[in-house]
Amino acid sequence: MIGGSGFYSFLDDPEQVAVQTPYGEPSGPVSVGEVAGRGVAFLPRHGSGHELPPHRINYRANLWALRALGVRQVLAPCAVGGLRSEAAPGDLVVPDQLVDRTSGRERSYVERGAVHLPFADPYCPRLSSALAAPDGVRRGGTMVVIDGPRFSTRAESQDYASRGWTLINMTGAPEAALARELRMCLATIALVTDMDAGVAGEAGVRQDEVFALFAKNTERLKTLIGGVIAELPDPAGCTCDTWAEGLELTYEIP
Ligand SMILES: [Zn+2]
Repeated sequence: MIGGSGFYSFLDDPEQVAVQTPYGEPSGPVSVGEVAGRGVAFLPRHGSGHELPPHRINYRANLWALRALGVRQVLAPCAVGGLRSEAAPGDLVVPDQLVDRTSGRERSYVERGAVHLPFADPYCPRLSSALAAPDGVRRGGTMVVIDGPRFSTRAESQDYASRGWTLINMTGAPEAALARELRMCLATIALVTDMDAGVAGEAGVRQDEVFALFAKNTERLKTLIGGVIAELPDPAGCTCDTWAEGLELTYEIP
């Protein structure tokens, strides 16, 4: 699991593991423990003290570290802004599409040769179904990922909304593509913390409101994800892994 630092208390009796990767340091030590009798590794996306802004996160090291510890399914909850009225503050949404508007991030393990990841459906269908199963969680919608760390202008936000996109976030890419390159399942559950600038009132988006809403909903999200972990589907045979069968990958998978 990759998530906010509020999720640390999630694991029973966790052990902290420092993982070295060929891509540098992950965001922090990985906590390894159990939830509902299953082995779970937790990595704080922004570092243990929230020291890494979205555009400075070492996404390649993070996904690599999880895979190296034996992870095969990644739950990646995140905070998002709502671009349309159907995604209101406090809503939980499992998006099914992604638009990557980031730039300058290390976004692939492929550094030579012809390896073209199938990514038409960027999220694992099995994990997405599991995350969307609890009452009150909506499934579907497009999440656009921007670099940040600033929030959008009103014009940017109105542009995204007019394209039919529902959610806006700063970390969802390249996280999802990197997981699949490493043949892991990944799905996200997005907590809407605010309405984005183009649909918000006069003040636009304010960080204090975003953090306050996220803190208020952390317990709810933890309970939900705990239930999902207990019911996780078998990753064997998932297309998130089988896409690479018969292909010659030009990078190592730990
Ligand atoms: Zn999968």
